[in-house]
Amino acid sequence: MAQLGALSLAGQPLEAVSSFKYLGITFSASTCIAGAAAPARAVRAAARAAMHSCNARCAALGVKAAPLQLRLFSTMVDAVLSYGSEVWGMQLAAASAAGKTSSTAGSKAERLHLAHVWQPWAQQLAAALAAMGVQLDLHLPQPVCKAAVQSACSAWQLKQLQDAATRKGASRMQHYTQGVCGGTLDADSLGTRAAYLTVVRERSRRAPLAQLRTGSHWGADETGRWDKIPPEQRLCSHCGGGVKTVQHMSFDCPLYASLRTRFTDLFCLLPEPRTLHAFFQHPPARLANFAASLKLQWQVAHDAAALP
Ligand SMILES: [Zn+2]
Repeated sequence: MAQLGALSLAGQPLEAVSSFKYLGITFSASTCIAGAAAPARAVRAAARAAMHSCNARCAALGVKAAPLQLRLFSTMVDAVLSYGSEVWGMQLAAASAAGKTSSTAGSKAERLHLAHVWQPWAQQLAAALAAMGVQLDLHLPQPVCKAAVQSACSAWQLKQLQDAATRKGASRMQHYTQGVCGGTLDADSLGTRAAYLTVVRERSRRAPLAQLRTGSHWGADETGRWDKIPPEQRLCSHCGGGVKTVQHMSFDCPLYASLRTRFTDLFCLLPEPRTLHAFFQHPPARLANFAASLKLQWQVAHDAAALP
């Protein structure tokens, strides 16, 4: 079914397997979920031991205050009982803890108690989804539309990114959203893996390109941030002709003039005024070669300047 569904996460296809192990519990395509939760019996025994231990410690230490006893119960017993419950479900855990087929008033009360104790994770999920505009009624659970959740989450993520880029001093974020992406980011493009991450396999070429794209590079515009130098004073040490941004290194700095001639195909057809957005539309492999050469040339000049 997973193979038919062709599920994906962040644009990457999820591998379909017939069984997998999570938190010590093996889930198999040929076993019902209750079968997978069979180890819950061991959990029940461990929880019982933990409860006796908790009671014994309370008695030995003379702990009688109910709030303290409840806190100890939460720490020592609930933690054991709820182990892995996010996958095998609190109903199964409650059934296991209260006696599988028992329908006595005591077991019902215990089920209610456990349902109450383990509610918070469901509430946290509902609250997180509600923040993204997806309402989840825990009292009347309805099937969740995967496409609606995906769309709402992408829109939420895009808004977070856009809000972050408008904050004062968010120059690196603006470099990416406005410079590299040209203000064209949309919810769909957020879930799409940048082509260079797949095309450029060698880390030595991929990393410098990633640095230029993200703005987290080796130039003064970035390194000056570490030394708390005001942005307008992070000048290029090679030419002094401007703040050492990706734009300056790629298009303007005379230090890299010969490099631009070598990579003339990246520059000759760029419309004026040159923009990073248009520049980064070039084939990723070629851009990666340029970025690696740019960094190498900077390193050589930097090392030469550091010599006594
Ligand atoms: Zn320069």
